[in-house]
Amino acid sequence: MGARILVVEDEEALTTLLRYNLDAEGYDVETVARGDEADTRLKERIPDLIVLDWMLPGLSGIELCRRLRARPETKQLPIIMLTARGEESERVRGLATGADDYIVKPFSVPELLARVKGLLRRASPERLATVLTYGDIELDRDKRRVARSGQPIDLGPTEYRLLEFFLEHPGRVFSREQLLDGVWGRDIYIDERTVDVHIGRLRKLLNFGRDQDPIRTVRGAGYALDDRFAKVE
Ligand code: CA
Repeated sequence: MGARILVVEDEEALTTLLRYNLDAEGYDVETVARGDEADTRLKERIPDLIVLDWMLPGLSGIELCRRLRARPETKQLPIIMLTARGEESERVRGLATGADDYIVKPFSVPELLARVKGLLRRASPERLATVLTYGDIELDRDKRRVARSGQPIDLGPTEYRLLEFFLEHPGRVFSREQLLDGVWGRDIYIDERTVDVHIGRLRKLLNFGRDQDPIRTVRGAGYALDDRFAKVE
């Protein structure tokens, strides 16, 4: 599955151009034209990267960026800010607010695509890796094998995908809804309690005969890979 990109831009022609080109690169693209709508959308669903226009109706790109950085779930979310030429002097403020990169309009599409790719690679090299490791856990995507301390572990397809998803975003806390989106896919209706069932199974299989549980339950928020666990030898 391609990385998910949310484009927040109110110029329709630009949105169409970006959607077309990002789509052609294999990304999963969503677009929103208002800052406040983007804010609401981002509370439900977190993409892998945002292309965020500076001037937007409803809520400015800068303010949205500031809000995203203030929330733990979106603190690390890669953001590319789009600014118009007249706003260039504001660049410093943009970066200070927490954008990872910025592009001045008008820009060339290949340049934007290169920035997107570069930022995604920097933000989550895990997405591209064949073997994901965390603490003593190893997941080999080519062989579809999981091991802990070198001992093979047999996971069902859902538990495998769940673990893979966690390993792609180590330390990040996911709500049940976000896990449903990321692991089961957004068009499937499944009760959120199903997530608990599969987390339970994953834990049981991963932790059999072991003391350390790599999965952290975050009360009222969801689940994450325990970052203390990464240091376990
Ligand atoms: Ca605009």
